[in-house]
Amino acid sequence: MKILLQFPEGLKQKGFELAKKYESEGHEVFLSASPCYGACDIALDEARWLKVDKIVHFGHNKFVKNDLPIPVEYVEYYIDIDVKKLASVLPHIKEFTKIGLSTTVQHSHQFEEMKKFFENNGKIVLAESGYWATKPGQVLGCDAIGMQKVEGKVDAIVFIGNGMFHPLAIDVKKPVIMYNVYDGSVKRVNEEIALLKKKRKAAILKALNCKKFGIMVSTKVGQFNLAQANWAKKELQKRDLECAILAANELEPITLNNFMTFDCFVNTACPRMVDDQDEFGKPLLNIDMLRELLEIIDGQKLIQNQRADFS
Ligand code: SF4
Repeated sequence: MKILLQFPEGLKQKGFELAKKYESEGHEVFLSASPCYGACDIALDEARWLKVDKIVHFGHNKFVKNDLPIPVEYVEYYIDIDVKKLASVLPHIKEFTKIGLSTTVQHSHQFEEMKKFFENNGKIVLAESGYWATKPGQVLGCDAIGMQKVEGKVDAIVFIGNGMFHPLAIDVKKPVIMYNVYDGSVKRVNEEIALLKKKRKAAILKALNCKKFGIMVSTKVGQFNLAQANWAKKELQKRDLECAILAANELEPITLNNFMTFDCFVNTACPRMVDDQDEFGKPLLNIDMLRELLEIIDGQKLIQNQRADFS
């Protein structure tokens, strides 16, 4: 069988070793060398050109819900943690009885063990799955719906993982406490979540002065959303704002800015790209942010019209 192996950046180091394993089993093997950001990002281009029979996608669970032209096998990659070390979280949640428990797919195989640990320490633990994140308690950078579902029933959310990418997706009003599986540190991350939201608000306000909008469409299979882009185009044009749809697999700030035309970008691809506003040097708005902008513009127009009627 002809197989294309695909890895997220952190697992590419395992690529050669795994290629040899599949080859020893009699397969013809290729390694995708493109960047891979998530299970939204399946290497279909390489697979088509190489005419492979199957893609083996490592490190993520299934994300794309529609049928793909090439079979994809998802191989989750698990990292064990020492669950006893979660004891360091307990002093940070002593005033809370009910907690929402969340983690990434890498630690999801120990979810029940973690849950039991907190239950044995007197906590009631709740967890739900999200839309894309299909395991209980699983959080993706674009999907912490599971934690939003339990927010009303718990006193705090505990996130077990590493790095800030995932916990920053947990947009809830309750305290969010993160346990870092690598260095064992524990901290509340609500301030950082609030800062991210503030940056998004600032981008919306900056966009109020913009006249030319580049609407970004990614051809990554799990990020492609032409319907949203067409909607954005129609709504902007209705308000006499100029715009064009920009399509690419990798939406790089440097390439987009080479158009030298747009003073604002609208993003229909990975919603976490807006965290990198600074790299674009211009406001970058997700669709929900664009909606807010349009509401402000409409509100301003209404006031102007009312003033004109009174004068
Ligand atoms: S956060 Fe972005 S890169 Fe990650 S799964 Fe969601 S869309 Fe893909």
